[in-house]
This record gives sequence, C-alpha cells and structure tokens, in this order.
Amino acid sequence: MTGFEGLGLPASLRRSIEGALAVRFPQSVLLIGPEGPAQALGRMIAAALLCTHGKPCGECASCRKVERQIHPDLIELDEEGEIKVDTARRIRSEALVLPNDGARKVFLLAHVERMNPAAQNALLKVLEEPPKYCFFLLLTVQPDRILETILSRCTRYQLPPEEETPDGELIPLLAPWLRALAEGSEAGMMRAAIGIEKLSRPQVRAWLALLQTALRDAVFAAGSLGPPLLPVLSAETAALAARLPVRTLTALYELCGTLSGRAERNAAAAAMTCALTADAYCLAYLGEGR
Ligand SMILES: [Zn+2]
Repeated sequence: MTGFEGLGLPASLRRSIEGALAVRFPQSVLLIGPEGPAQALGRMIAAALLCTHGKPCGECASCRKVERQIHPDLIELDEEGEIKVDTARRIRSEALVLPNDGARKVFLLAHVERMNPAAQNALLKVLEEPPKYCFFLLLTVQPDRILETILSRCTRYQLPPEEETPDGELIPLLAPWLRALAEGSEAGMMRAAIGIEKLSRPQVRAWLALLQTALRDAVFAAGSLGPPLLPVLSAETAALAARLPVRTLTALYELCGTLSGRAERNAAAAAMTCALTADAYCLAYLGEGR
C-alpha cells in the first residue's frame, strides 16, 4: 500500500483528507469523481480509518487485511445495475453490528447514484444517526442523481476528471488481438486479451472504440474506399480485410458498440474481454453470435 502520496491526488485534496483524518474524520463522506480513482481513494481512507497507527502504515495487521480485501470491518458494496431498498436495509442492519477487529467499521459504497429513491431513503436513515463506530464512504460520478437529504449529510471531496488514455498506449494491446483474429486463433485472441483485463472501465471503452476504428479501416481496405484512419495498424486491418467478408467485419463493428454499452453499465473488464473474444470468434468463424 502506497499511502495517499501514491494516488496522484491534487495537493489540496490530499491535504484536506489527511487533515481531516488527523483530527476527526466525518462519518459520512461523498467522493465524487471517476470510478477507478474514487474507489482507490475510498480504500485508502478506509485503510487509514482502520489502521492501528492511524495513517495506512501498510504494515499492521489491519492494513494488510484491507489490502487483501479480507478486513471484516470494511464492507464494500459494488453492485451491478439498479440498487434496491433491500441492499440499503442490509447496510443498515450491518451497521448495527459492532466492529469485529477494532473500534471502527467502514462502509465503501460504490455507485450511490444507482440506488433508487427507496434505497436512498433507507440509507439516509443510517446516515442521520450513524453508530459512532461507523464511517460511510459514498462514491459517485453523478451527485445530481443523489437525494439532497443525503448530500447535505455528507462532506464532499471532488476528484479531478480522468485523463483520456492516448491511442499510443492502447495500440500495443490491440494489434496482437487483431492479428490473432485475422489468423482465426481463438487461443491467440484470449492471450492477447489478457492485457485488456487490467484496464479501467473507461480504458476498456477507449480500447473498444479503437477496435471499431480498426474494423472500419478493414472495411475500407476491402473495398479500396480510402486511406486508413489508423495507418499504424494498416498491416493488421489489411489482413482482416483479406480474411473476413465485409458483412462479418460490420457485425464485429456492431458487437463492439454493444459491448461498450455493457462496459458502461458496469461489466467487469475480465468478463468483458472474455465475451468479446468468444463472441467475435463465433461471429467471424462460426457464422453466428452468442
Ligand atoms: Zn496500518
């Protein structure tokens, strides 16, 4: 664990969080910003709140449990889709149970904006009168979809927007996958996809957008319709154009759009890349989608 320095936060944000931790940290906090960085910051705050030395030292038993995601007093919620009232009620009853290991209990709740109004109201009840050992770290990208009554209970920390990943970083992850697709090697596609699993969700979507551009280039190459948009991948797109008919390339293009929507709605990167490879292989070589 790197401590707050390793998170690349703006200095003012880091100072105010470290300052609050040193004095008296608020029991309800809203971290507003892109999912990956907000989650990393939430985990770091949780580690600090639970650390025996009060700072995330990275060495005490508590810090090590947080790092391995097995700390019994850190409860993380990261559900897919709409979050319903049952989940909020579960959080409330969990909050009434005393901490296991130490003196505190931390709830790290992702996508609070996806809680429906009934769920937000149920959560509000525990935020209004939290047991004194409880800390709630709420994460969101869309604070305007959270009830005013919840917002007014929370101390807000705003993270900077995420920088776009330059194409130059994604092309080395795309080229081997395209080559394996052109060779008809499902195993090769799987191997090439391993690097994609480590990407954040916005990066996966950027990768899919780049793949769409490459498929568009392949269609253009097949019909001699014009120069490629990604000349750096022209060998790969020419190979695809030679191997697959245009209607398959178009179907693959559409598949990318579907998967990009799924990535936005919170599919894990690993599940995404697995589906991408399996579906793309089926479309290209077995003449069907799955
Ligand atoms: Zn520690």
